[in-house]
Amino acid sequence: MTLPLYGTASQSARFSDKARSVLRLRSIDSAAERHVADFALAKTPDDIRRATEADWPSILVVSDGPIDLPSTFTGRLVAVSPKYDYLADGDVIGFDHASRKFRTLYRRNSAHNSFLVTERCNNYCLMCSQPPKDVDDRWILSEIKESLPLIDRATRALTFTGGETLSDWEEFTEVLKECRDRLPATAIQVLTNGRAFSDSRIVDAWKDIGHPNLMAAIPVYASVDHVHDHVVQAKGAFDETILGILKLKDRGQRVEIRVVLHALTAPIIEDTGRWLARNLPFVDHVALMGLENTGFAIANDAMLWMDPVDYGDGLARAVDHLSAAGVNVSIYNLPKCVLPKSVWPHALQSISDWKNGFVEECDRCDEKNTCSGFFTTGRPRFSRGVRAITAQRNELTTLADWPRN
Ligand code: SF4
Repeated sequence: MTLPLYGTASQSARFSDKARSVLRLRSIDSAAERHVADFALAKTPDDIRRATEADWPSILVVSDGPIDLPSTFTGRLVAVSPKYDYLADGDVIGFDHASRKFRTLYRRNSAHNSFLVTERCNNYCLMCSQPPKDVDDRWILSEIKESLPLIDRATRALTFTGGETLSDWEEFTEVLKECRDRLPATAIQVLTNGRAFSDSRIVDAWKDIGHPNLMAAIPVYASVDHVHDHVVQAKGAFDETILGILKLKDRGQRVEIRVVLHALTAPIIEDTGRWLARNLPFVDHVALMGLENTGFAIANDAMLWMDPVDYGDGLARAVDHLSAAGVNVSIYNLPKCVLPKSVWPHALQSISDWKNGFVEECDRCDEKNTCSGFFTTGRPRFSRGVRAITAQRNELTTLADWPRN
């Protein structure tokens, strides 16, 4: 099941003329100091009564039922459907006053929080999960700035994604400086196509941010420039991206390289792995990633779909090349049963909790607790190799070259 992170409130009242607000949800009994953005979180009539008795000036109600507020309550009110019942103490929401549309920006109990920075991008990747839009969405950066003071300082990790996150690089580096000051213990990961770092001004500004745990996660889809440029639909992108990575490492910055695996990249993954091992062994991490079949990947399905069991051997050799060069390498988004056993130690539970699911077959699998499972977004494609891993199957695989047969 996909957790609904977007929606429209059924009611709202007494918001200012400002276009948008950022709200933080609080337990009614919270003893923490109240911030002007704080809303008591009420899920039952009794919660609503207790919130008003405790003088909460703002209340968010998760309910379909009638909202019985005393006439003395003159504060802000938002009501959302019970399908957002997951909302909890410390979560942060972006709320548009006129349309009543809202987005859950941050869930305190989640290890997978990410902020969309912009929908604009100078690449146009064939499998983009967030197809670029040429819109003025700079308000999103203001919303993020407003959100950061509300985020729990104990948050372990935060990702910024796009679009191209460095589209408005000056404003965005200011946001990252806020992270440095407010969330110094949080691992900050920025997904970027890396082309902006070919500009020395931008890479110098990045270095000056000085967050102690900042990582740029940059896709390199092939060791051949025209293949990468074709995947991202931008001529010259490969050269700019590689130059950007070199400039980042030259300035001591942390870099993760990401290779998304599909029919254009997976058949050459061994070459790509060997090239990365030889030419960029100093990067901090390489992630070899299964495809999320959503966005442009659905439109380009006929061009992109490749069953992971058909590239497992090449993937294993790529992992070998990278590991032999001392590169920290992981496999993301691919279930264990479709991978050669040799790479299981590299296969991580990488899919964000709000869009992660399993199929019935998984219920009898011994590896479910350590398996990535599947994306629930878009139009999921399943490998013909999906099969529960059990002690019995392990015995069988010693006799047969499973899962290719
Ligand atoms: S059967 Fe399910 S839980 Fe087991 S490895 Fe495959 S996808 Fe993962």
